[in-house]
Parts: sequence; C-alpha cells; structure tokens
Amino acid sequence: MKRILVTGGAGFIGSHLCERLLKEGNEVICVDNFFTGQKRNIIHLLANPYFEFIRHDICFPLYVEVDEIYNLACPASPVHYQFDPVQTTKVSVSGAINMLGLAKRVKARILQASTSEIYGDPIVHPQPEEYWGNVNPIGPRACYDEGKRCAETLFFDYCRQHNLDIKVVRIFNTYGPRMHPNDGRVVSNFIVQALKGEDITIYGDGSQTRSFCFVDDLVEGIIKMMATEKGVTGPINLGNPGEFSILELAEMVIKLTKTKSKIVFKPLPKDDPKRRRPDITKAKEILDWQPTVPLEEGLKRTIEYFKSTLNL
Ligand code: NAD
Ligand code: UDP
Repeated sequence: MKRILVTGGAGFIGSHLCERLLKEGNEVICVDNFFTGQKRNIIHLLANPYFEFIRHDICFPLYVEVDEIYNLACPASPVHYQFDPVQTTKVSVSGAINMLGLAKRVKARILQASTSEIYGDPIVHPQPEEYWGNVNPIGPRACYDEGKRCAETLFFDYCRQHNLDIKVVRIFNTYGPRMHPNDGRVVSNFIVQALKGEDITIYGDGSQTRSFCFVDDLVEGIIKMMATEKGVTGPINLGNPGEFSILELAEMVIKLTKTKSKIVFKPLPKDDPKRRRPDITKAKEILDWQPTVPLEEGLKRTIEYFKSTLNL
C-alpha cells in the first residue's frame, strides 16, 4: 500500500484521481483549500479510512510523509485563474516549490499537472512536446501560462540539481462529471446553458478549435505516467487528438440535450488560442495510452451529471 498525496484533490480532476487511487488499494491524503474545489466532489470518500482530507493552501509549506505526490492544486478555468491572477502565479510557483521541497525531504516521486496552455496560441499544429510554445508573457492568460511554465522549469531543475524523481504531464482540455457548473469552461457552460434553456454563448465566430478528453481517460494516463520508471520525466501530452470547433461542440450539445436554446455570439476573449490539438505519439509509445471515450459519449455522461446536480 502506497501513501499518496493529491494536491487539488477536491477539484474536478483531483477528485476522480483520489477515487481511482483508493480503488487501487492506496492510502490517499487529499489537500485542498476549496478555492475552486467542492466538498461534494469528495464527500463520498470521507468515510473511507484510507482517505484523509487536509484543508491547506499549498503556497504554505506542508509536512506529511508520503511515497508519491500528484500536484494538481491550481485553478484551471480562465474565469477562475483570472479572478486573482497574482495568487494563480503564486500557487503555480510557490506551490510547486513547496511540493518539490516536500518530495525532496521524503524522497517521494512527484508528478506535475502541467497544461497545453504552455504552448500558448500555438504556431505549430498539432502540438508535440518539443514545441516551445507561443505565449504572451504580459496578457491576461499569462498568470496561468507562465506560472505553469515556471513550474515545469522548477520540476526539471529539482531533477537535475537534486536528482528528484519527477513526472510532468501536459493536460489538454478535459471534461466530465464534477466540473464546476460556474467555472466558465466551454463544456460546462454549454451544457448548463442548454439544460436551463438559456442562450448558448459562443465567443468569437466559433471557428477556434479544442480537443476534449473525457476525465476517466485522462486519469488513466496520469496514473500510467506515475508508474513509469525513474528517469521517464516527460513532459508528455495527455489529451484526446479529436479536434472540434467550438461551433461544432455547441451543435453537439444542442442535439444531445434536445434543447430549444439558441446560439449567440459574444466577443472573443483576448489571447484566446485559435487551435489546439495534442500530438500524443509519445503517450502512445511510452505509456501505451490513448483516449477511448468518444466526445459524444463523454458529453452524454456529463449531461447526465449536470441534470442530476442542477435538479433539472
Ligand atoms: P479545479 O479548479 O477543479 O481543481 C483545482 C483544485 O485545486 C481545486 O479543488 C482548488 O480548490 C485547488 N486549489 C487551488 N489553489 C489551491 C491552493 N493554493 N492550495 C490548495 N488547493 C488549491 O481544476 P481541474 O480541472 O481539476 O484541474 C486540476 C489541475 O489540472 C490543475 O493544475 C490544472 O491546471 C490542470 N489542468 C486541467 C485541465 C482541464 O482541462 N481540466 C487542463 C490542463 C491542466
Ligand atoms: N468558449 C465559448 N463560450 C463559452 C466558454 C468558452 O465560446 O461559454 C470558448 C473560449 O473562448 C475558447 C474555448 O471555448 O475558445 C475553450 O474555452 P475554455 O475556457 O473551456 O478553455 P481554454 O481552452 O480556452 O482554456
């Protein structure tokens, strides 16, 4: 039995990860300050004697004894990470330093939840790990993009300088049950709007693309990465290579919810990336991993979740 720390464990991805790690017979310590996480994401785990919750902000040091650390704590949706941009950079950078320091002290393996945002508004398409990205360092997304880029730098410097056993995964847009209904991300926005019969808000003309990965697929990839031998550091892209325009996504949500909602077009936010699709050659080769849940099926499961939580 391993003792595993999951920071951001009460969040969308973190709660699925905690659940999966417990199922596999591990002891899980979940650390979260509930900035964007929700108690109801983990409430069903609290009775499990192998699950422990600590309310803590990872910008402050943490002293626990663990074998592995998954570092997921950080707001992930543009609305939330732009709410307090200084704190977003702090959690990415100071939070990473604290978790890396902890890993060094207890000699734990540590995985960083990095992001496709480190590629910015990419000029290379699809994005392989070798691409260094096209990030505006002073724009509204920079607090997140540059924070996550600096966290990657710290991970690799701790590896080179202190021989730390690190893993870095670059997560592309992920969706599924337990997304926060108000977090402003496109999948949750469209589904909630459709279920409430409200207008579906497309930013720009809807021609921008994203690649959407169902959360169960992503968690499988993250766990496979953690299980690789020392020296396999990544960074490795994890995402679904199926690429859809935002307009296509809106039409799919309208079809699946059978809503009468109408599409409305709103201004495109500044620095909104035009295209995004992962090159997952490395994940296939090194992890023997690729997504299995098609977008339509994942959307159906997410729609069911929102139907039950919104009481519609
Ligand atoms: P989320 O907002 O649901 O989860 C983040 C969790 O971190 C929340 O529970 C929040 O309360 C917690 N948190 C934030 N600041 C904290 C702090 N200072 N101390 C302790 N806890 C803190 O987002 P998510 O989608 O589950 O994302 C999880 C991780 O995956 C993030 O690091 C994010 O950057 C990364 N990621 C997510 C996506 C995606 O599409 N969902 C894509 C790329 C990367
Ligand atoms: N978007 C949209 N309507 C919404 C929310 C988002 O058209 O109600 C667009 C957004 O401008 C972006 C894409 O959907 O082009 C994905 O946005 P999200 O915030 O989910 O994630 P991002 O990949 O931009 O971080």
